[in-house]
Amino acid sequence: MLRIAVVGSGPSGIYAAQSLVEQSAVDDVRVDVLDRLPCPYGLVRYGVAPDHEKIKSLQNNLRTVLENGRIRFLGHVEVGPGGVSPEALTRLYHAVVYCVGATSDRRLGIPGEDLPGSFSATEFVSWYSAHPDCDPGAFVLGARSAVVIGAGNVAVDVARMLTRGADELRPTDVPQSALGALAASRVREVHMAARRGPSQARFTTKELRELGALPGADVTVDESELARDPVFADLSALPAPVRRNVEVLRGWAGRPLRPGARRLALRFYLRPVELLEREGRVGAVRCERTAPDGAGGVLGTGTYEEIEAQLVLRAVGYRGVPPPGLPFDPVTATVPHAAGRVLRAGAAAPGEYVAGWIKRGPTGVIGTNRPCAKETVASLLQDAPLLCARPVAPEPLDALRKLGLRPVTWQGWLAIERAEAELGRSLGRRSVKIPDWDGLLSAALGPA
Ligand code: NAP
Repeated sequence: MLRIAVVGSGPSGIYAAQSLVEQSAVDDVRVDVLDRLPCPYGLVRYGVAPDHEKIKSLQNNLRTVLENGRIRFLGHVEVGPGGVSPEALTRLYHAVVYCVGATSDRRLGIPGEDLPGSFSATEFVSWYSAHPDCDPGAFVLGARSAVVIGAGNVAVDVARMLTRGADELRPTDVPQSALGALAASRVREVHMAARRGPSQARFTTKELRELGALPGADVTVDESELARDPVFADLSALPAPVRRNVEVLRGWAGRPLRPGARRLALRFYLRPVELLEREGRVGAVRCERTAPDGAGGVLGTGTYEEIEAQLVLRAVGYRGVPPPGLPFDPVTATVPHAAGRVLRAGAAAPGEYVAGWIKRGPTGVIGTNRPCAKETVASLLQDAPLLCARPVAPEPLDALRKLGLRPVTWQGWLAIERAEAELGRSLGRRSVKIPDWDGLLSAALGPA
């Protein structure tokens, strides 16, 4: 028997579990998918925006994997202090695959970044996704004007959520408190600021186009900013995804604002240099106008612009945090590895593996995790004869309980799903997410 722990039940963890049971020559492979949270699916549940129902529906595919008889979900199990130590895990399992994602954010490193009213996009995403670590009352959207810094798909997600009306979100599983705050939001203007040009933006065309179809908001684009991009005059040599982005943006230039509509301004060649304080909180973002350097980067021009903002969301990328007990490269914020095998002082550590964002950094779409997990699992299975020789505990679940942990099993998760459906019914909505630890744990485990 080969007994494996996968740490993290997001797409990379679930694809790793699937690969293990599909690729293993050992019939008797058993996989426990552990998660700190009582709920599975990682960023599909706590990152994909609630209005992206098609991507959310991927949960159905991930669910099928977790229902496989050789795979077991064990939520509410933290690896690290207060939970199970990495050393203890190695006594319970022949191998551990860490699929813990990138749970922190890149910093801007500019003055004023931590002023009240300035948040990482991850905090805002966690709030509207009902992450239990996030205060449900964290965002009172009294701001008139918001600035979103960055031009990736996360920036697009948070800009869209700020400009969507509550009526459009009511049919989704957005938590009730966030729905109330979004319904009462006074935000009229959202500015998305990219430090480089339209041809270097990281968002994808499908996500970009969606901004132009928001019922209650109008996108504005300044044609003179688009024209600063050296490629603007001739798009023919651009790769198709980049060309499509620029074409979509060009189509929006000069579009008039509908009366009463919120404004979503897409700005380019603006590098934030400081968040300015007004009355004890953020009041504006000071940006330096940049210009293309001819090599895909930008140079400062020494001219500045201030954009009014009582709310700033920094969407400049995720960042991995060191998983307890594993080596970590602070430059790439990933765990050093060779084809998924964790490297300690340059040598492969038997029984320790990584997959997903903690292995390759926070890029790519959900599907990118599938080949990434497959590569890691191929390495693990090559090592299997060696790994199997080591004795492990007969039933890890008993051992986890002996440590004082109260794992949430698949039955517990199904109880959370039922409680969320019931909550939705009581509010006259579809299933609505439970946003707090107590609510999730009492649904899953009963009274403490
Ligand atoms: P991202 O795609 O890496 O975009 C980060 C953005 O922040 C870039 O525009 C970058 O500009 C900018 N930035 C970085 N440092 C900055 C600084 N110091 N000052 C100003 N701007 C700065 O990251 P992401 O948006 O967090 O997305 C992460 C991954 O998740 C991506 O692969 C994304 O496609 C995926 N995702 C997909 C979806 C979807 O499919 N719907 C939704 C959300 C996320 P530069 O390019 O100039 O560095």
